[in-house]
Amino acid sequence: MTQSTRYRGRFAPTPSGRQLEAFGLHWDEAVRWQHDRDAAYQQALNTLANQGLAYPCSCSRKQWRDYPVYPGWCRTGLSGPTQPVAWRLRSDLAKRPIQWHDRLFGWQQFDPETLGDVVLKRKDALWAYQLAVVVDDAEQGITDVVRGFDLLDNTPWQRQLQVALAFPEPRYLHLPLVVTPQGQKLSKQNLAPALADEPRGIRQQLFLALQALDQAPPSDLAQAPVTRQLDWAVAHWSVEQLSPSAQREWPQES
Ligand SMILES: [Zn+2]
Repeated sequence: MTQSTRYRGRFAPTPSGRQLEAFGLHWDEAVRWQHDRDAAYQQALNTLANQGLAYPCSCSRKQWRDYPVYPGWCRTGLSGPTQPVAWRLRSDLAKRPIQWHDRLFGWQQFDPETLGDVVLKRKDALWAYQLAVVVDDAEQGITDVVRGFDLLDNTPWQRQLQVALAFPEPRYLHLPLVVTPQGQKLSKQNLAPALADEPRGIRQQLFLALQALDQAPPSDLAQAPVTRQLDWAVAHWSVEQLSPSAQREWPQES
């Protein structure tokens, strides 16, 4: 693809990796596994903690359930010193406000403090998405982040982390979510049907995805092999054709 866009190499020999392959999507580097990245994430967390931008928190979700976001009780010291801790970002002390230009939705501005002190490392010692994605993207030289609109409001925390860790700022493009006629996300949780796993269905769904992305593929592409559809899509891809709505319905299958 152009502009050194890369697929993140997280998926490979997993069910979702096989699904990407079936749709002709591949990755251009060896796959890296999150469970091998502990040292890199820990180093990033140490860097943040040394700047006073990360802190341990022993609170449980139950304790702050009456608040819209975690109220930051442990910012000045653990409230339960003998309990296991998660690590949180000091969203109030890191860079704010956060502004960026989304390639579809235009200028965005958030005050991350209103989003709360997001968890960076969980109580069960698993690394949270926000930290892992920022560290991995920087190391893999990701220049373009393209993802669903539901992650738009994660970007402020990720920008705070990038600034604090002196990582470069990628370009962001958030895409409308495909939803059911009732407005629900197409996800396992909402019992959406699985993606096709045989060639005819795969070709048709790839074509519908191009339509859902406002790319207006020519109708004779509808049953073309996935490689031909993707070649066409790469050659004709235009952000300008996308209409900036947060969601849209899956086009009717013909
Ligand atoms: Zn706490």
